[in-house]
Amino acid sequence: MSRRRRVLVVGGGVAGLVAARALSARCDVVVVEREPTAGGKLATGELRGRPLDLGPDSFLTRSGAGERLCRELGLGDELVAPATSGASVLARGRVRPLPPGLVLGVPIDLLALLRSGVIGPSAAVRAAADLVMPASPRSGDPTIADVVGRRLGRSVLETLVDPLLGGINAGDSRRLSFAATAPTLAAAVAGRRSLVAALRSRPRGAGSHPERGFGAPDGGSGSDGGSGSATGSSGSRPAFLGLGGGIASLAEHLVDDCVRRGVVVRTSTSADTLERGGEPLVPWRLRCGEEVLPADGVVLAVPASSAASLLAELDPTLAGECGAIPYADVVTVALAWPDAAIPRVVLEGAGSGILVPRPSGRLVTAITRTSAKWPRAANPGETVLRVSAGRDGDLRPSGLDDDALVAAVRAELLAILGLTAEPLATVVRRWPTSLPQYVSGHLDRVRRIEERAAGLGTVAFAGAAYGGIGIPACIESGERAAASVEVLLGK
Ligand SMILES: Cc1cc2nc3c(=O)[nH]c(=O)nc-3n(C[C@H](O)[C@H](O)[C@H](O)COP(=O)(O)OP(=O)(O)OC[C@H]3O[C@@H](n4cnc5c(N)ncnc54)[C@H](O)[C@@H]3O)c2cc1C
Repeated sequence: MSRRRRVLVVGGGVAGLVAARALSARCDVVVVEREPTAGGKLATGELRGRPLDLGPDSFLTRSGAGERLCRELGLGDELVAPATSGASVLARGRVRPLPPGLVLGVPIDLLALLRSGVIGPSAAVRAAADLVMPASPRSGDPTIADVVGRRLGRSVLETLVDPLLGGINAGDSRRLSFAATAPTLAAAVAGRRSLVAALRSRPRGAGSHPERGFGAPDGGSGSDGGSGSATGSSGSRPAFLGLGGGIASLAEHLVDDCVRRGVVVRTSTSADTLERGGEPLVPWRLRCGEEVLPADGVVLAVPASSAASLLAELDPTLAGECGAIPYADVVTVALAWPDAAIPRVVLEGAGSGILVPRPSGRLVTAITRTSAKWPRAANPGETVLRVSAGRDGDLRPSGLDDDALVAAVRAELLAILGLTAEPLATVVRRWPTSLPQYVSGHLDRVRRIEERAAGLGTVAFAGAAYGGIGIPACIESGERAAASVEVLLGK
């Protein structure tokens, strides 16, 4: 009888834990996680005694991967849809609801766009030019700005598409690859002259949410964003789902399930270097400080920057490709107030939250109405807002200490919402190098990484850096990596 193979999964985020779970049926699996707890970005904290998601707060339901996994883990009863829908944007000096008929920020109802006032009349006329303009030349791997800006003008790009599509990964639409960041959108408009006409004629049910992302930072899409019941009793399937106890319960249940299946989860263990084992029975060695872990196969489910360090000696070319994937730093700041301190007029009609476009020059990129979106996140009579700050090219929030950051955020909330009152409590969570940027050339880079990895043997990559940053995409990448290592081990 052949011996059970040992696979090391480096990185205990959702992608790594899913890979470990999938491999556990046929292999001995060890997860190596640097932090004291596994889960990576799936983090739930606490504000005034209530669970509060400090990273992701929901996942897109379209691919089904997130919901399926939650149900498999016994979390079906915990699935909950956001209680709010729609979103708003800081535009032309005030907070305005996003117009209906947006597909990832691209307006397909130009009359609704004009009526909404989010852009001025001349900018709306400029957007309508998309319907009659001759075909725009597209070569190489155009950015979102190349495609959308050229067809619909700067105002639509900066006020709607950059905050919605670029906001998914705190990205800059002038750098982000249109094909890599918005593959469904890119497929819908491929070979078509007008973006608006192409999106109007796309099949019903094609969705307005990003395939590789997770919607706006607050989960709002501006069109059909996220209302409905998790059980489907309202008849329509919610676009997003969260978890009653917070998103970290997904990580906790994944870890428990992995352990039940015999996976060893080693936390507080940082992997330093991946080396060839030098013996037929030990193809790989993973150096973790003084310790050396042998393996038959390896899944690298760490951010690409960590993969680059792990591979630096083994394959400098591959390490260089991984290291070239840029990341954005972001922070989230949650604040609680008594309801009475909140200027209702501004927040009513704001939906799930407010997007803050880049040209405003503000640190804040989005304000989520957390207590409206997830009522369990606030005590009765209190309002919780979760502010996201920092984006690709804007490191100002990361450079401030917590007190200065909270002060800067409060100054911007005063300017945007007229919110003057002292908060009852605040919580700050920093996410350095957290959101991979799928810049122009990303798909070719990922192809080169995959080809080079195939040359190494029983090594696979998983996680947000490569084929989708949302939780469902990471789940699928973990499953794919596990399947590929299993196949390679069987050879
Ligand atoms: C603020 C924020 C909000 C988000 N909101 C949403 C949302 O609403 N919906 C959604 O679907 N997605 C959202 N995302 C994206 C999503 O959460 C992530 O893309 C996804 O969780 C990444 O999973 P992962 O397993 O690829 O990586 P990670 O979660 O980053 O896991 C990688 C793990 O590897 C570990 N590691 C790194 N280096 C080493 C090493 N050398 N040795 C050992 N371990 C190592 C890390 O500690 C980490 O635990 C959000 C992300 C952020 C930052």
